[in-house]
Amino acid sequence: MRKAKALAKNGVVQIEDGLYQVKSLTNPFKSYMVTSDSCDCEGFRNFYKFHHGKDLKANCSHLEAVRIFKANHKKTGKGTTTRK
Ligand SMILES: [Zn+2]
Repeated sequence: MRKAKALAKNGVVQIEDGLYQVKSLTNPFKSYMVTSDSCDCEGFRNFYKFHHGKDLKANCSHLEAVRIFKANHKKTGKGTTTRK
């Protein structure tokens, strides 16, 4: 997911623990509130409309971006041995 990677770099802002604001890819003036497993974009909400009760996990590029964002920050955070 190249889109999500680009978003993680430039479009993710951490609001608080577990809450992120992710920019829309299609509309730069729009952004979505994303938690670790939910997003308020249309794609995410539609997923549950169409796949309701099938025990599937919805995904979208915003959620993916937050995951990458978190992974990137772990690397530079405490507890790692990487030093410059
Ligand atoms: Zn989304």
